[in-house]
Order: sequence, then structure tokens, then C-alpha cells
Amino acid sequence: MEIPVVEKVLKLNDDIAAGVRKRLLAHHVCTLNIISAPGSGKTTLLERSFGELREDLNLAVIEGDPDTTLDAERIAKHNIPVVQIETAGGCHLEANLVDNALNNFDLDAVDLLFIENVGNLVCPCSFDLGETCRVGIVSTPEGHDKPAKYPRLFKEADVIILNKIDLLPYLNFDVNVFREYIAQLNPAAPVLELSCTTGEGLDQWIAWLKNMVKT
Ligand code: MG
Ligand code: ZN
Repeated sequence: MEIPVVEKVLKLNDDIAAGVRKRLLAHHVCTLNIISAPGSGKTTLLERSFGELREDLNLAVIEGDPDTTLDAERIAKHNIPVVQIETAGGCHLEANLVDNALNNFDLDAVDLLFIENVGNLVCPCSFDLGETCRVGIVSTPEGHDKPAKYPRLFKEADVIILNKIDLLPYLNFDVNVFREYIAQLNPAAPVLELSCTTGEGLDQWIAWLKNMVKT
């Protein structure tokens, strides 16, 4: 029987995630699990956020990637502590991988930890990593129907980012339809429209982050 096996895996992950959450809380680390499709701008958003945050907060990053260290190398260039989790083709991060990765940081010297999940809108949602908040990102070229097609992420996200709004004039992306889908799934979640290319809207994201770390 397949279903009980899957449930067992998820239950084990949840137990480990509860331990990770305790560990992070004990060290006062605020942790974001960032979930999106490949190419929506997760790494770029992090790179664009460091400048505004690093004066007040000690930052760290865990990079989940199926095969390469390309994103981790980008983060390391900013002199932010970064640990790469290579999933060897695996399509999501699991709590035990995060638990092991945490051994590489001095957690007392971290205020805000970003976990860039593997680019995938489906299964990362099933695996609690012990995070404080879940961030969902969609970029405009992906289409405004993504919340309808992949509702779980949008139901569970604490904040939703619509990236690449500078491309809206060239696309058939209807922001109102996108917002309407999210309003039905998760009316409490803020939807932040921004562009990592032009910098438009980044201030709302930085304000959201700073407020979240404070509380
Ligand atoms: Mg990336
Ligand atoms: Zn997966």
C-alpha cells in the first residue's frame, strides 16, 4: 500500500521539523522558507534584500538546489554565510537536511535565515522545515492562473510576492485575477507586487521582513 508509506514519511518529517523549530527559536533565529517555481527570482530577491537588511540584522542563507552550487556562489559573493544543500536531483528540501545544514552556522550570530527551497510549486509545500514563515513567489511570465492551479502554496503562505511587474506591459497577466484567486484561498496574506530589476515595490518587502523579525 502506497499511501500509508507516504504518510509515514511526512509524519517523520514533521517530527524532525518540530525539533528544528525549537532549535531555531532557542537561538532567536527567524526563518523563511521561500517556495516558487524555477526562475521566478528567489535568489535575485535575496540578493536585492541584503543591502537594506544587513546593517540591522545578521543574515544567513540555506540554498536548496538539485545539482549545482550556482545560487550559493551568488550568495557567497555578498559575504553572507551560506550553506548549500544539494538534493541530488531531489525536488524539495526536507527537515532533516535543514537540521544538518544548521550545524554549519553559529546560530547565536543569526537573526534572519532564508531557506531557498528547490524551485517547485508542488511538493515543497508538504514538507515543514521548521520555518517561522512561508514565502510564496510568482513571477508575471508564469501567468495569473498559478494560485488556482497550485492552491496549496497560496493557502499556506504568510506572504505572497508577485515579481517581475516591470514585464506586465508585455504579458497577458491580469493582476486583479491573480489577487482574486489569492483572496479566495488566503484572504489574510499580503500580496506584494515588486520588480527585482527596477527595484519598484522592494520597500514593502523589506518593511514586511523587518516587521516579521521584530514580532
Ligand atoms: Mg535560485
Ligand atoms: Zn519533491
